[in-house]
Amino acid sequence: MLDILNTRTNPTASLAHLTDAQAVIEIHKLKQELQDKVVLLGHHYQQDDIIQFADFKGDSLQLAKDAAKLSNPYIIFCGVHFMAETADILTSNEQQVILPDLDAGCSMADMASINEVENAWYNIAAVTNDTVVPVTYVNCTASLKAFVGKNGGTICTSSNAKKVISWALNKGDKLLFFPDQHLGRNTCYELGVKLDEMVTYNPNLQNGGLTTEEIQKAKVILWYGYCSVHKGFHLEHIHQIRKSKPETQVIVHPECSFDVVQASDDNGSTAYIIDQVRKAPIGSSFAIGTEINLVNRLKQEMPDKEIISLSPYQCLCTTMYRVRPKWLYASLLSIKEDKPINIISVDPQIAKFAAIALERMLTI
Ligand code: SF4
Repeated sequence: MLDILNTRTNPTASLAHLTDAQAVIEIHKLKQELQDKVVLLGHHYQQDDIIQFADFKGDSLQLAKDAAKLSNPYIIFCGVHFMAETADILTSNEQQVILPDLDAGCSMADMASINEVENAWYNIAAVTNDTVVPVTYVNCTASLKAFVGKNGGTICTSSNAKKVISWALNKGDKLLFFPDQHLGRNTCYELGVKLDEMVTYNPNLQNGGLTTEEIQKAKVILWYGYCSVHKGFHLEHIHQIRKSKPETQVIVHPECSFDVVQASDDNGSTAYIIDQVRKAPIGSSFAIGTEINLVNRLKQEMPDKEIISLSPYQCLCTTMYRVRPKWLYASLLSIKEDKPINIISVDPQIAKFAAIALERMLTI
């Protein structure tokens, strides 16, 4: 047996000699051995050598719903940090959530810290008496989820963004949406909010880079955050497809920029994209603007359709990519040895308010 459990985080040195292929064989064995003691959740952006082990696959909304229903003592979350935190919030104290690589974060989630958002909240309150409803995209830390829970707001995913934002717009005079400006802008625009009714708050600038008048006039205040993967799709890619393959339907994720979403034929969450491509008749052709692992998987699953990435470059989520078979193996082995590593545990006070926000979301 490999002596890898001396280290509580990534046991890099002791696993250095293990190839992915060897780790995959060991994972098969351990999964069988551990049976219901452990369940694996896998995000759609994971690589094939990981997703093959997922007992539940999905986007972040689906996996949050799945996690809430589980009773297995150990949940290994093959995804990124904020997703494992959400699973911890939605599961009981007796269950433990494990993230195979603690460095698997999300660059978008890192673009809004609790201090920055609290500062913004006070800056806005200082210049307006309007009721501001805070909504965070699920791609954020647990402390931001708790912040919206405490302040009458809620959480959205890309699957339910329209419903949630519509709820927030009806509930107050203004919406403060973070961290993804693009999902916020694209969704609000679809709901009828005009571009000139939205402003972007940049936490790196004094007062977010906004004047008092701009904050007072705005219906929607969008945080200056974005996804570095979906930012890789550009208008020129769509122009290129229209020229070379005019029959191809362009479908993109709403984390793409406004001009890309506007120029595409359709847009929606990961789950929506999968559904649309599966439902399309044989022979259909799609250029998809989302993470490359998902696009490649759809391509393999449906060889009777032409499926390409909208971008000629690999739009890969490098943080999702960090979850490698050897880390999954190390997590499983640590459970077998009753010395679990990489446990994600949200502070109970933060979890309490984050759970309020999540429950509010699930009831909208
Ligand atoms: S695809 Fe973008 S938003 Fe999703 S986890 Fe990766 S960096 Fe974060």
